[in-house]
Amino acid sequence: MSKINGGDSVLPVLIVGAGPVGLVLSILLTKLGVKCAVLEKNKALSKHPQAHFINNRSMEVFRKINGLADEIMRSQPPVEFWRKFIYCTSLTGPILSSVDQMQPQDFDRIVSPVSVAHFSQYKLTRLLIKQLENIGFRIGSEELSPDVVRLEEHEVLMGHECTSINTNDHGVTVTASFFREGKYMEKDFRCDFLIGTDGAGSTVRKLMAIDMSGEKDLQKLISVHFMSQDLGQYLINERPGMLFFIFNTEAIGVLVAHDLKQGEFVLQVPFYPPQQKLEDFSFKMCERLIFKLVGRELADIDVMDVKPWVMHAEVAESFLSCNNRIILAGDAAHRFPPAGGFGMNTGIQDAHNLAWKLASVINGISPPSILSTYEMERSQIANFNTALSLQNFKAAMAVPAALGLDPAIANAVHKTINNTVGSILPSELQRAFLDGIFSIGRAQLSDSLLNENNPLGSRRLAKLRQIFEEGKSLQLQFPAEDLGFRYHKGALVSDGDSLSSAPETPTGRRRDYIPSTDPGSRLPHTNIRLLSKLSSRELFSTLDLVSSDNVEFLLVIAPIEESYVLARAAFKVAEELKVPLKVSVMWPEQTIEGIIRSETALSPWKNIVDAVEVKRSPSSPSWWDLCRMTDRGAILVRPDEHIAWRAKSGTMNDPISELKKIFHVVLGLQSSYT
Ligand SMILES: Cc1cc2nc3c(=O)[nH]c(=O)nc-3n(C[C@H](O)[C@H](O)[C@H](O)COP(=O)(O)OP(=O)(O)OC[C@H]3O[C@@H](n4cnc5c(N)ncnc54)[C@H](O)[C@@H]3O)c2cc1C
Repeated sequence: MSKINGGDSVLPVLIVGAGPVGLVLSILLTKLGVKCAVLEKNKALSKHPQAHFINNRSMEVFRKINGLADEIMRSQPPVEFWRKFIYCTSLTGPILSSVDQMQPQDFDRIVSPVSVAHFSQYKLTRLLIKQLENIGFRIGSEELSPDVVRLEEHEVLMGHECTSINTNDHGVTVTASFFREGKYMEKDFRCDFLIGTDGAGSTVRKLMAIDMSGEKDLQKLISVHFMSQDLGQYLINERPGMLFFIFNTEAIGVLVAHDLKQGEFVLQVPFYPPQQKLEDFSFKMCERLIFKLVGRELADIDVMDVKPWVMHAEVAESFLSCNNRIILAGDAAHRFPPAGGFGMNTGIQDAHNLAWKLASVINGISPPSILSTYEMERSQIANFNTALSLQNFKAAMAVPAALGLDPAIANAVHKTINNTVGSILPSELQRAFLDGIFSIGRAQLSDSLLNENNPLGSRRLAKLRQIFEEGKSLQLQFPAEDLGFRYHKGALVSDGDSLSSAPETPTGRRRDYIPSTDPGSRLPHTNIRLLSKLSSRELFSTLDLVSSDNVEFLLVIAPIEESYVLARAAFKVAEELKVPLKVSVMWPEQTIEGIIRSETALSPWKNIVDAVEVKRSPSSPSWWDLCRMTDRGAILVRPDEHIAWRAKSGTMNDPISELKKIFHVVLGLQSSYT
């Protein structure tokens, strides 16, 4: 294979993998002024819909990416079409249960300025590419001639697969292989930091010999992407929903309605290789399977793609390698069952955590050791979300188990066949054996058995009702984990109160988000108006006070003298450490008439925003009540909107030396607060 010398240019950041996580990271880094480029092995981006549930926190990240959240909200199907999970014996047959996954508070925007969304991953990827083009990225590969050896910043280089990595004290060299003019060629690219966002089978992770720990190979599935407007229209009229769990004597499957109006679906069916082969799922076979699950034929069915995949619940043992120069994010660092939609969302939040830390290293604000806090913070969340997704996946399995179709038993039978008769019986016989066992299993779903007059059937139906009544089936929404996840150790300084609250264990049930200012939590949202724009009556969120265009910290205080003293000290320390700082003064709504701008109190510093809180009603809590603090407190917020430190009272003996210690810990200049 011929190799082209990559030249002398060194990119600050090279990202391997143009999935949603790599693309979001490249946008966030570019906004923070970091030069980066992306290598993608495929020549075109995947059109398989895959993820579809975008959680609240990811939407908050997207809200700060130039209108992206608005565009998703405008383009997604109406919520009435996707708020339910439906359990039935066929799409045209009886409904066993229908579970609404949305609650009134999910729409009222009290805890967040934006809502969750249902939007296919490939459509999101398209919007991310559009965003990158708008900020000057070039996407492509074909037009480049083989002798173009430099990888420029602001480029997504398609058709280039990372195949090897070398590191030394000065940086990283990545070798990428590509196919051009009938042969494979290789090129070397140099960078200071390499980010592996190359998905669940990550080459970067394997090249760094990083193992995964957790539960492997939970279930093998076949994903069938198909279109049918006939089915979409029927479901809109009769039983709109997002997920359809279908159990009948002929077939079993989970149908994901990606877009009912467009008639776009993905069917997930269990897959048992080697007895079953991918070739068994020809487009024609898949059509027949879909008709069995629908309960009738569809005139306009169009199968687009059939893909096998394996479900794991694993987290990488390390997210960092080679002195923090090689970093994993997204599925490369963790892979969960897609139950509760945490996979892509956790990856997007990895990118959000990593972007400001990388930018502060590249801008000379922090040493590379700050990147260790990325692993501390994100591996804690990845482990928690793995456990939560696993619990939720097990809850999903409770329904077929109640119907006499325990998937754990099916998997055990399959394993037994593989381990025993697998070596002696010819494959056709093994397959017939497996089919026979599965059709006996599905016979549990026959009308003659599953009815109230049959003692076994009525017991099973009662068990099913109990699962739904107790809310023990698969859940979509986890507000306490979505908005309420909190870092316990990392780029933050805990206080006495927050130290006591150890990480909770997941319950697998929906729990409401409770606003918190414990260090490591996301800054609570409340509506505000800006004094400088008071006449426009425009509403902002407290989250908008945090800049996404530079590595800027935010100090939130009340307009009282002792807090101004603290703010002046913070400005002084930030100036010394060359870290941008903004101070936001929160004025209570009632004092709107008497506001005197904080400029004089904080002179000569200029980066000040006077904000006026806007309560939903006179009985709503004030900002400091919401934060469970008094107005003598102060909150220091990181560029990713997580709280770095708080003071319950603004009085400090020596604010300058206290704040120096705090900034030193948060910026990674010192490992602990002493
Ligand atoms: C059926 C299903 C439903 C799901 N539903 C949800 C959901 O509702 N919500 C949710 O949050 N998550 C969901 N997920 C999970 C979600 O799809 C993944 O978490 C997400 O794709 C991870 O994004 P990523 O960017 O980390 O990796 P990927 O999307 O896998 O992207 C990795 C990219 O890297 C490229 N690449 C790989 N190797 C190399 C290499 N050596 N060199 C260069 N490029 C390389 C790949 O071609 C790919 O483009 C679901 C997953 C499945 C299977």
